[in-house]
Parts: sequence; structure tokens; C-alpha cells
Amino acid sequence: MADSDVDLFVIGGGSGGVRAARIAAGHGARVMVAEEYRVGGTCVIRGCVPKKLLVYASHAHAEIEDAAGYGWTVTGAAFDWPTLIANKDKEIARLEAAYTSNLEKAGVHLVKARAVFEDPHTLRLSSGEQVRAGTVLIATGAAPNHGAAIPGIEHVISSNEVFHLPTLPRRIVIQGGGYIAVEFAGIFAGLGSDVTLIYRGENILRGFDEDVRGHLRGEMEKAGVSIQTGCTITRVERHGDVYTSHLSSGASLASDQVLFAIGRHPNVANLGLETAGVAINPGNGGIAVDEHSRSSVPHIYAVGDVTHRVNLTPVAIREGHAFADSVFGNRPTAVDHANIPTAVFSQPEVGTVGLTETQAREQCERVDVYKAIFRPMKATLSGRDTRILMKLVVDGTTDRVLGCHIVGPEAGEMIQVVGVAVKLKATKADFDATMAVHPTAAEELVTMRTPFARYTRTTSG
Ligand code: FAD
Ligand code: NDP
Repeated sequence: MADSDVDLFVIGGGSGGVRAARIAAGHGARVMVAEEYRVGGTCVIRGCVPKKLLVYASHAHAEIEDAAGYGWTVTGAAFDWPTLIANKDKEIARLEAAYTSNLEKAGVHLVKARAVFEDPHTLRLSSGEQVRAGTVLIATGAAPNHGAAIPGIEHVISSNEVFHLPTLPRRIVIQGGGYIAVEFAGIFAGLGSDVTLIYRGENILRGFDEDVRGHLRGEMEKAGVSIQTGCTITRVERHGDVYTSHLSSGASLASDQVLFAIGRHPNVANLGLETAGVAINPGNGGIAVDEHSRSSVPHIYAVGDVTHRVNLTPVAIREGHAFADSVFGNRPTAVDHANIPTAVFSQPEVGTVGLTETQAREQCERVDVYKAIFRPMKATLSGRDTRILMKLVVDGTTDRVLGCHIVGPEAGEMIQVVGVAVKLKATKADFDATMAVHPTAAEELVTMRTPFARYTRTTSG
């Protein structure tokens, strides 16, 4: 566009927006990014990073307990929540500064303001300024759902507030059965809180492999988390500092905090999308895009959580990078959303890639399932009652490994590497031909010889 102020205007300085801006600037584009809150977005400011720091903090408790079996006497161990939160905040501020400086070094013009469409090529900033752009990238992310407006919803916190609680809750009630709910159940239980998880369905982590769901639930319950399924919270009452959650089952629970982690909605409201003519995907409520992240308006693109495709940081980053290469680097790139490895930082962790057993049995004629459940070596001397689950789902016709599911310490680290093998279409024979690393838990992945079960699809009619 001849009369534009910038070649690319990015709305949102989170994972997807920052990557797209830096790569586009590297290709020579004049780029402006608007961020209304803090640079780094959800992942850095109130998502993956602070969450993982809290996970580390909560692991320390079990490490101290386990040390006894290894001959250590640890006296005077005490935990201080304000110290953890202050140290976490310091690290987040450091990362935010690094993100800001990397944008500036790349030659990107960063404005700390909210941006909305004035017309398809013009953005209005909350500072009052107007900017004309040749191309616009919407990378506004997502926000926590609150669910129905139940009585007392104002007493409920979301993942946004949980990172800034003034004190560690002695008792916490968490509603939800997805990533955030199980991760925070583990964090608070590890730090010594009394945790109750309320989930509306039959079992937590719907959509994950059934064995993973059952195994994780068992392990969480052994660690002291009370998991109540088949019910919801219908009302929350406050009496001083105590909150009473009333359940659809008729029961009620007193706690010091009530956290809802019941999904997130794409940030599409009040952006002027109608003015710009950008269509919403009626199926998921996110911005409708094609495989190149292009919206219904040819010069407007969208990446990351705002498209509600796969809501993970590496996916937003990859989509932002592919967009910048396609539009400003003369290298058309579509992101492959198949076989994305993912981890749930529950305690113990979940790592998963590819098809679940149920999906494989729906899609393939023959499926072989390999499964191992065993006590981790570390638990022998510590005496901790815990088991690791490892599972491979294999196409019984081609021998290809279609899925891998792990519940146990470092499952996230393991699944990153298994993800490469699955992406390369490795077969079970390739896994078997790989030498084990001993003594590790991961060696089980290459030493499972006999199928736990073999399924052949029966056709009816
Ligand atoms: P965001 O990172 O959310 O960035 C969007 C940015 O746009 C925000 O900074 C927002 O302030 C800004 N913005 C919005 N509207 C405007 C506007 N109109 N003008 C200017 N700025 C605007 N993913 C993982 O892969 N691993 C994890 O361990 C993990 N843990 C998570 C834990 C929690 C508690 C949460 C909530 C999420 C977690 N995620 C995790 C998901 C991950 O954070 C998101 O998938 C990722 O941040 C999406 O990146 P994005 O660029 O699409 O959006
Ligand atoms: P999820 O979609 O993972 O889980 C939402 C949960 O809330 C589900 O158990 C769902 O139940 C339940 N739920 C939905 N609506 C209601 C309702 N009205 N009342 C009661 N329960 C309800 O969302 P999260 O909020 O946990 O996390 C959002 C996303 O962020 C994740 O899906 C993931 O993409 C990303 N994330 C990734 C992490 C990681 O990579 N480690 C960590 C944290 C977040 P049902 O299953 O029955 O629909």
C-alpha cells in the first residue's frame, strides 16, 4: 500500500505476535506492534512460564520427603508463598524486558496501547493515534471463561488472578478438568493446600487417552487431591474470608479460594472486526482463517489462540513465523497441525503425541497396544507409592507408531523427543531397534516386546 504508515501492524505482543513481528522486520518490513497489557502475552506473563515456576516450587516438597529414604535428614524446611511470588514476578519482569528489547533490536516499533480497527486498513490506538497498515496480523490471544453467571461468581478467581494471591490458600476448590485445573491442583497440593477438584464429566482430561486419564486421576488422588466428578458448582457464598461452594450434587465445600479453569475464549470482542469485515469461525468462535492464517479479508491474518485452533505457545509461535515468511519472506509456508506433542504439567506429568487408543481403533483396521505400568526406580528407596504409565499405540497393519502416552516424572521432556520419531513415521520395529538407555524410565519405550492388546476392527452389516 503506497500511503501506509507501516507494512505490518500486529495487534497483540504475545507469543504469536512477537515472533511474527520480529521475522517480518527481518525480512525488511516496517512493523508496528500494539500491546495493551504486558509484552510477552499470556505465556510469559500469566501462563506457561509462571505456571512452570510454581510447579518447580511445589515439587520441592516431595523431594524433601523422598530425601529421607536416601539418608538425608532435612530439618527446618519451611515454605514462604510471598517469597515465591516475589521471585517469580522478578523473573517475569526480566523476561518482559528481554522480549521488549528483542523487538526493538529487530527494528520493530512497539506501542503500549490497545488497537482496534477503524477501517480495514486503519488501526485506532487507545492513545488516540491512527495508523495505516498494508497488512494486519491479529494476535490478540484468549481470556478465561467464567461460565454461567452463577450466584457468587464475583468471588471466583481465574488463572489470571491465581498468580498474584497474597497468601497460599490453606484450602482451595478448583472447578474444571482440563490442563489448567489439573496443573493448579498439583501445584497447590504440592505446596500443602487441601485441594478439591470439581469436574462436570466422568473423568478429568477429556480427549486424552483413557489410560492416561485413569492413571493420572489415581496418582493425583494418592497425592491427596480430592476429585469429585459428575457435578458442578452452582453457587458460591462468602462469609468473611471463607467461601462456600455449593455443588449440583447437593454437597457444599468451604475453602479460602475458589478457582474456575473452565476453558478460554478467543479475544475477538470490541476489536472492530465487523468494521474490517473479518469473519468469525462459527464452529469455534475464533477468527476464521485458511491454512496460511489468512482471514476472510485478504490483507488481514490471524494467528495463535485468537483462531482457537490448537491453543499452545509453540503453535502460536510457529503460525506467526509461517505468516511472516509467507507474506514478507516470499516463502509460502503452511503450519502442519498434525501430531503436536503436548505436556500437562500435572503431578505426575503427562506427555502425549498422536492418536489415543480410541482414535486409532476408530481409524485403523488393526491396532496393537503396548503398555507398561511400573514403579520408578527413585521410589524404591523413598518408599513413595507411585507408578509410571507408558503406552504406545501402533498401527497393526503398517507397524507405524501412531501415538505415545506417558504419565510420570519428566513426561514432557520425553514426549518432545518421541514427537520427532512419530513425526518421522517411525515404526514399532524402529523403536525396538533403538538401544535402551539404562537405567532410565524412558528405556521402557524401546523395550516393550509383547502387545498388551491387539484389536481388529469388526465390520457389521
Ligand atoms: P497471547 O500470548 O495471549 O498474546 C495476546 C496478547 O494480545 C496479550 O498480551 C494481550 O494483552 C494482547 N491484546 C489483546 N487484545 C489487544 C488489543 N486490542 N490491542 C493490543 N493488545 C491486545 N501453552 C503451552 O504451550 N504450554 C504451557 O505450559 C501453557 N501453560 C499455560 C498456562 C496457563 C495458565 C494459560 C492461561 C495458558 C497456557 N498455555 C500454555 C497456553 C499459551 O499461553 C497460549 O497458547 C499462548 O500464549 C497463545 O499465544 P498468542 O500469541 O496467541 O496469545
Ligand atoms: P481446557 O479446555 O483444557 O479445559 C476446560 C475444562 O473445563 C474441561 O474440563 C471442561 O469440561 C470444563 N468446562 C468447560 N465449560 C465448563 C462449564 N461451563 N462448567 C464446568 N466445567 C466446564 O481449558 P483450560 O482452561 O484448562 O486451558 C485452556 C487451554 O490453554 C488448554 O486447552 C490448552 O490449550 C492451554 N493450556 C496448555 C497448557 C499446557 O500446554 N501445559 C497448560 C494450560 C493451558 P469438558 O471436558 O467436559 O468440556
